Formats: sequence, C-alpha cells, structure tokens
Amino acid sequence: MSTEITGAYEPGNIEKKWYDFWLEQGYFTPEIDRDKKPFVIIMPPPNVTGELHLGHALTATLEDIMVRWHRMKGEPTLWLPGTDHAGIATQVVVEYQLAQKGQTKEEIGRDNFARLAWEWANKSRENIRYQHQLLGASCDWTRERFTLDPGPITAVRTAFVSLYDKGLIYRGERMINWCPRCQTALSDLEVDHKDIAGHLYYMRYPLTHNDGFITVATTRPETFFGDTAVAVNPEDERYKRFIGRNVTLPVINKEIPVIADEAVDTSFGTGALKITPAHDPTDFEVAQRHNLPLVNIMNADVTMNENAGPYQGLERLACRDAVIADLRDQGLLEQIEPYLHSVGHCSRCQTMVEPRVSLQWFINVKPLAEPAIKAVEEGSITILPERFTKIYFDWMRNIKDWCISRQLWWGHRIPVWYCHDCNTLTASVDDPTSCSNCGSKQLVQDTDVLDTWFSSGLWPHSTLGWPEDTDDLRYFYPTSVMETGYDILFFWIARMIMMGLEDTGKIPFHTVYLHGLIRDETGEKMSKLRGNVINPAEAISKYGVDALRFALATGNSPGNDMTLGKGKLESSRNFVNKLWNATRFILRSVDSEALKGRALPRNLIISGAQQTLEPEKIEDLWINSQLNRLILNVNSLMNDFQFGEAEQQIYDFAWSKLCDWYIEIAKIRLRSQATPSPLPFLVHTLERLLRLLHPFMPFITEELWQSLRVRLLNSDSTDDVEMPASIVIAAYPIANSEAITPEAERVMDSVIEIIRSIRNARAQYKVKPTKLIEARVYADELLSSLIAETKVIEELAQVQPLAILSRHERKLGEGEALVLVLQETEVVLPWAGMVDQVAERQRLMKEGEVTKTRIAQLDARLKDNAFLTKAPSHVIEKEEQRLDMLKDKLKRLDLELSQLGS
Ligand SMILES: [Zn+2]
Ligand SMILES: [Zn+2]
Repeated sequence: MSTEITGAYEPGNIEKKWYDFWLEQGYFTPEIDRDKKPFVIIMPPPNVTGELHLGHALTATLEDIMVRWHRMKGEPTLWLPGTDHAGIATQVVVEYQLAQKGQTKEEIGRDNFARLAWEWANKSRENIRYQHQLLGASCDWTRERFTLDPGPITAVRTAFVSLYDKGLIYRGERMINWCPRCQTALSDLEVDHKDIAGHLYYMRYPLTHNDGFITVATTRPETFFGDTAVAVNPEDERYKRFIGRNVTLPVINKEIPVIADEAVDTSFGTGALKITPAHDPTDFEVAQRHNLPLVNIMNADVTMNENAGPYQGLERLACRDAVIADLRDQGLLEQIEPYLHSVGHCSRCQTMVEPRVSLQWFINVKPLAEPAIKAVEEGSITILPERFTKIYFDWMRNIKDWCISRQLWWGHRIPVWYCHDCNTLTASVDDPTSCSNCGSKQLVQDTDVLDTWFSSGLWPHSTLGWPEDTDDLRYFYPTSVMETGYDILFFWIARMIMMGLEDTGKIPFHTVYLHGLIRDETGEKMSKLRGNVINPAEAISKYGVDALRFALATGNSPGNDMTLGKGKLESSRNFVNKLWNATRFILRSVDSEALKGRALPRNLIISGAQQTLEPEKIEDLWINSQLNRLILNVNSLMNDFQFGEAEQQIYDFAWSKLCDWYIEIAKIRLRSQATPSPLPFLVHTLERLLRLLHPFMPFITEELWQSLRVRLLNSDSTDDVEMPASIVIAAYPIANSEAITPEAERVMDSVIEIIRSIRNARAQYKVKPTKLIEARVYADELLSSLIAETKVIEELAQVQPLAILSRHERKLGEGEALVLVLQETEVVLPWAGMVDQVAERQRLMKEGEVTKTRIAQLDARLKDNAFLTKAPSHVIEKEEQRLDMLKDKLKRLDLELSQLGS
C-alpha cells in the first residue's frame, strides 16, 4: 500500500481503499472471548423504504465513535447492522408502483405482491448497506439482519405465542385509529395530531315524550346515527330534569337515553354531549361505564353503512354536508360556530384517521411495563440525557393496550389459524396442519400482519439468535448501548425493554443514548419545503466522509438538538487539511533525517502509557504534558458520552498546541539542526493524536498513521517492537500522569503569552511582517527558563535584539516604549524601533480630530427634537449605538497617544 503523502488531500481515493482493507482483515467481526466483557451496539434498523438521510448519518457517526473507541480499548466489539421491513411504508411504495401500471394489489394477489415487495426491499437493503460503508461504519456485516429473516420470524412467532398463551395477547373489539387510505388500524403513536379550523355544530335532539329538545354541540354531525346516548353532568342544573328521559334522533327516529356522567365538561358547547361510542375514544369509555351499545356507522373506506339510513353509501364528509342541510330544513340546526380543534392524521399518508371500534389484536402491556419501569428505577438501565427518564416513567405508568394487528400484506403474518369446522383458534410457532380441537385440516391463517414495531421490539435479542440458546446470545446479550433519536423513545426503546425482559428475563441494554434533531445553521428544522436539507451523499462527495462525521459530532451532547451547515462542514474540512499538512511536514522531516542516517527511535509507537522518551527541552516537556492531559480528558469525556466536547478538545490541541506552537518551534530547531532533535516528540505526539482522533475521523487517521507506521518499521532498531497492522486495532491512548508537568506548562504559557502580545502590538501599530523590532522582557521566577527560549521568542515574534532580564534590572525612564504587562512578565517594546513616532503621533491626532467632529454631529442630532419625534425607534437606537462606539474609539486613541510618549 502506498505511503506517499501527496500534495493535496483527496478523500474519495483513500476512503474506499481503507474500508476494503478493514473488511478484508475482518476487523469488524469480533471474537468471543469469555475472559473479556464485550461492547455491543445493535444498530437501529433503517426502514428499507428510506434513502439514508442526515439522521442516519448522525446515528452511524455516533455509534461508530463508540464502537471504534471500545474496539481500540481491546474489548470484543460488536456493532450489528440491520434493516426493518417497514410495514405500511413499504406497502405504500409498492402499491404506488402498481398504480403507475394501472394495477392494484388485489388484482395481482398476495403472493405476487410479496414477490414485488421483496425485490424492492432487497435492492434497497443493498443500497443502505453501501451507504453505511461509505460513512465508514465499522459494523459486523457477517451478522447483518433483516426483520423478515428466518431467525427474526421465529422470534416474532415465539414471542407472540408465548404472550398469547399467557393471556397477554388477545383479540377484541376496541377503539382504534383507522386510516381509510392505508386501510389499516394504526397505533396511537402512528397518529399525528394537527389543529384544524373546523366548526362546532349545535344540533337539536327532540325529547321523545314531551315538547322541547336538548341541544348538543359536536364537530362531527355526520356521526349522530351512531349515538347511543346523550350525556350530561349530574351537577348541571340545566339538565337535571332530563336525566333518565329519552330523546329521539332526527331522520332515523331512534330513541336514546339521557344519562348522567361526571366526566362531562359543563363548559363545552351546551354542556350536553352526544355519545357515539363506536367512533370516539372518550365516548367509548363513557359507553363502557354505562353499558351502552356500540353502533358502527361506517365501512372500512369511510363511506356510511346501513346504520346511516338514507345516507348509506355517502363518503363521511359528503354525508356531513347532507346532514347539515337536512337538519337546517327541519329547524334542528341551531347554529354553527368556527372551532379550532385537534384532529388525528395518519403519520404515513396524512389522511384524517377515523377512530372506530374494530376487531383487532392487542397486547395487554401493563404487566410488561411494570418490570420495564423497575429496570430504569433501579438503575440497571440508564437513559441519557437523564431528563428523558421522567418522560419514560410518565408514559409507561399510563400505558394503554397496544393494537398490534395491521390490515396489510407486507410483514409478519399473525401466527393464528382459525378452524373452518369448529371455529377453534390455534396460535402456533410452526404452521399447524390440523385443528388442535377437532383435528380438521380446514385451517385458515389470520390475514393480518403485526405492527412493524412488534418485530423491532425484539431486535436486540432476535438478532442474536433468540429463541435459540446461541453463543452470540449468551455472550453479547444484554447489549451495551442503544443509541437512537429521542423521537422513538416510546415506539421503540420502551418496547425493547418490555419485550427483552419478557422474553429473556434480562434487560436488552444498559444504556440508552438519545440524540437530538439536526437543524440548519440558523436553528430551523430541516425540511424539503424549506430547502435546507443536507443530503449526506452530497456532503460526502464535497467535503469527504471524515469532515461530515466531524461536523456531525461537533457540539454534540446527549439529547440536545444540533445545527449543521456549510460553516461547520467547511471548518471540518479545513481541519482535515491542517492535519494532512502537519503530517506531511513531519514525514518530510523524518525522511530527510533518515537520509542523513539519523533514524527515529523505534519504540515511539509503543501503545499505552509507556513513555520511553526523555524530554529535556521545556517545549518537549510541555507538548508531552498537554498531550497526556488531553488523553486523560478525552477518555473521561468518552466515558460520559460527551463526544462533542471530546472532539473539540482534540481539535484545539491539534490546531493550536501542536500546529500553531509546537510545530512552529520545532521548525526553528530543525532548521538549526539543534540537539536534542524535536523529531521524536513530533512523531510521538502525532501518532497518539491520530489514535485519539481515529473514532471520529477513521479514514484520514488511518491514511496518515499508515504512512507513519511504515517509516517507523523501516527505522533501524534492535528493539523488536510489534506494531499493529492498522490503527483500527491499535490501542486507544492511555494517559501517563507522570508526564503531566505543570512547571513546563507555566513556562510555555508565558512564552506563548509573550509572543502573542508582541504579535498583537505589531499588528496594532501596523509593523511590516518582515521587520525586526527590539524587545526587552522582564521576568522573576521564570527568568532562566525564559532565557532558554530566547531563540523561539525571537523567531516567532520577529524581535531582535531581545533581552530577557530580571525585573530587578528594570530601570525607570529607559526611553519611550510600549509596555505590555503580562501574567508573569513585562514586555517593553521601544517605540523607536517599531514606529515612526512623529508620523504615528500625527496619525493618531488626526484620527482623534475626525472622531471628535463626528461625535459632535451625532450628539447634536440626538438632541434634536425634530429628529427624535420623526425617526423610528430602531433608527434612534442605531444612532445611539454609533455614538457609543465613537466615544470608545476616542478613548482608545487617547490611550494610544499617551502610550506613545512625548
Ligand atoms: Zn394512511
Ligand atoms: Zn376445529
């Protein structure tokens, strides 16, 4: 493999080369080692319907950071990838493809439909795998799973039958959300609630045996055929006398009772509520309390059924128009008022859902929720960030039965068979051949499939082989971290905890890491409508994978939303280039030393905290000290899941400490061929920096590290040092606390401060970059250490002659000079060498005059009543700000003038 570091960094070339190499070497497939505790992440399976978006890229980046870090720590590390068959979503896609050809799924039949869906899913899965590999995801592809694989299918059936046998899965008529477009039941979580500007209709229901009527208010007049009572609050004086009487529904002339229920809100509408138990969840509960009958008035396509009398066959909204017109004619419509209310919509297709009572399969989840609550209460599962723990508890403690049947063709078909002869129901893991009751062979399988989230709920254990007692299950389960977006805490996390505990008796993971949303640079949510969506594939081709990953992890902390835009991507790419160039410089120096027969000590690359370098120079001690501090911090931040901060600290170290300071100082020493050579420290620091950075930027770090590795292996040494073949399996750096030397840090802080302040002064007085100026530095305790850095200060601050003296030698009145008072030192820059004093004085005075004139003008304007009354307040504010700025400027000019001496 090439080790030449060419001129410019071209991400595309190296990314594919290294990913293929890693796969060939099998680094991502862990070995089971019972003496070691494994680190395991099960990847949240992307839907087969989805092109990978930025959310997936974020998930992959954060998980890969964790996985690579743990792998480098020597833990058997498994990151198991997979995809989800995504029931409704996939069915919608395939139905759409059929519609393009003028076909329906009914026309081609269930088997042909499944064939099409499989074809499509397989292609899509390949694409998803490819995109993850593009991102550098170090998943174990040999263990890749699909929710419809034979293993997960057995798991789903086993879990179903077990819950069914325990009586926790039942079939019953319950209120569900029905999507008329998708023609299926939905769970509460699959319904989006939107505020709709609708109307409140006041309808009169005549009393059956008396004159008069009760007026009810409703947003859905077309459901009145399904009313089975009118409810009033027992305390409501207006209606007390009606309780127990009957009213007659218009049009269909049906009698229904007036009942009392404490849940009725007297302030809503008229205080009298029509009860339509088959089409409203709250009414359903009222009906349960009062034993009211359920009357279903709609067909599955939301047209009215035979219970709607003359309106039978009308679509629900057409029926509403007809009902309003007829009631108005009969004088039974009192009034209509505008009304904003929340209406459920199918989260998949955005069609208004119809709440209706329907025969479906449900899980009684309460008994499953109890141990799942306990697991978090007792701390065996930690949710990050912690604030989501309360949300989890609130949800789990109020959990409702989960509707798990879907009227779809794509998915896990419910493993229940009905006997044609005796109606007995058989739930079975394997397809039964005869009825368990009468032995009849006339069995028909339930036509429904399971909610996709049922199979995802089993994902941590089904992917590892459950219900079989496999080696994988025994070794890798419970897994370590479940990392996903906080938006699926209930859909998925809660269900995995419940199902994992139910099926295996063990928690599925120890830690839940919830990441936030990605917003654009201005903090707006990304959406196609706004046009601010970043496509990861495009970002990769423009900036490279490492830059995208780095940008995604920047500022990231558990649960917090983050921003991403051009700025972050560009700055990440600049960082990659900075590393590339720094490494090029170091490698060139290594090569030219080698040419001169000076080889590097080969033990430089030894992993871990071993430290065989013996720094003599302050700056070598300093960089080593800073490096070890960094290693200490990064490991601790990674432990706390603070990846954004860990990355930031690595960035600051690399950019500022290493590139801006240490390399610049090393260049001076290399040029003058001074001994000791800084080269071992350059190599040592770079090598460890690359390893620290590897989990964040896998490709560039491997490329640079390999170039370094080859040179170290070629170097002469009698030591027989083992070197890993890839940074992927090199050890993550461990800090050597003995290398942390506050004394050296104090000296170098002071050196850096001196150089910076001289540079600032030069910039302020516009001294030409090449011009050398005179400087005197006065110090106390650090005197001798600073004297040792004379050459560094001279070169980096462009000062000469430079005198570093004891503060005792400081004389007053030693000529006119700029004096900079610093933390540990005083820097004196004589004016004579720096600026033309006369010209500078004139410049400052002239600038001062101009500023004074402008202040006077503005002042007058801001006292002018005509201006103050006419101008808008933001204009006045702006002028006031300008005045303040000018006054500040004048102060600064005066200060500079006084410093310039006379
Ligand atoms: Zn729908
Ligand atoms: Zn039977």
